[in-house]
Amino acid sequence: MYRIGIDLGGTNIAAGVVDEGQHLVAEVSLPTGAERPAEAVVADICRAAEKAMEKAGITAAHCASVGIGSPGTCDSANGVVVRAYNLGWFNVPVCSMVTAQLGLPCHLSNDANCAALAETGCRNMILITLGTGVGGGIVADGRLLEGVGGTGAEVGHTVLVLDGEDCTCGRKGCWEAYASATALIRQGKRAAAAQPESLLAGYGEGLTGKDVFDAAAAGDAAAQAVVDRYCVYVAAGITDLVNILGPEMVLIGGGISRQGERLLAPIRAYVAANCFGGHDRT
Ligand code: ZN
Repeated sequence: MYRIGIDLGGTNIAAGVVDEGQHLVAEVSLPTGAERPAEAVVADICRAAEKAMEKAGITAAHCASVGIGSPGTCDSANGVVVRAYNLGWFNVPVCSMVTAQLGLPCHLSNDANCAALAETGCRNMILITLGTGVGGGIVADGRLLEGVGGTGAEVGHTVLVLDGEDCTCGRKGCWEAYASATALIRQGKRAAAAQPESLLAGYGEGLTGKDVFDAAAAGDAAAQAVVDRYCVYVAAGITDLVNILGPEMVLIGGGISRQGERLLAPIRAYVAANCFGGHDRT
C-alpha cells in the first residue's frame, strides 16, 4: 500500500505519494492561498493528493492513509488544527474534512514535529523551519517534545527583541518576526526603499527570500547587509535553543534552507562563537 504525505505551508501545499519502502514516487505542489476560507484550502489539499496519486499511476484504493504536517498547534488525537496564525485557522477539523473527500484515514501533526520525527538516530535534536513562519520540532532524550495539547516547541514565538516587530501571534518581537522568510522579505523591502539603487529595488513587490540571497551573491551591498543581519537573527535564536537543550544536532528546513551554505556557514560561525562555552575557544 502507498501513503500520501501533505506538507501544508503558509505559501504552498506539497503532496507526495510514498511506497512501502518510504520512497517518494510522485509529488505535486499547489499554492496555499491562505487568505481563502479553510474549506477552499482543504479542497486543494485533496486536489494536490489526487494529482499526486494520478502522477504515481494509482488511486485512493491503493493508499492506506493520508498524513498532514501543518503549521501551528495541532490536536493530533482529533485531527484538528487548533491554531495556525499563518493560515488564519482556528479549530479546523482538517482530518475529517479530508477523509470525507478522499475516503482515506487521515492523521495530523505539527509540520516541524513531523520533520523532527523523520530524522531518526538522534536522542537530542532541534529542527527549525524557516518558511512563512518559524516552526520548531524538538527531540529530547529520544522523545518528541509536544507539550500539553501539542502546544510545545513553538520556538518561533519566543522573544528575540523586546517590544520589537509585530508578530502574527499578537506578541511583539518574536523570533519568527525576524527569522522567517516573511521577515526576510520585509527586511529586503525596507532596504530597497532606503537604497533605491540596490538590486533589491528591481524586484518590487514580488521580492522573495531567494531574491535577497541572490542579490547578495551578485555583489549587492544592501542585499548582503540584509542577509548578514538575517543570518544573525536566525543564529541568535538557535544559540538560545542550543543553550537550553544541548542538542547533538540542529537541522534547518523550510524554504530558506535551500540557500544551503550561504545560510549555514554564517549561522555555524555565530553559534560556535556565542553558545555557552563558545567563548572558551576564541
Ligand atoms: Zn509570535
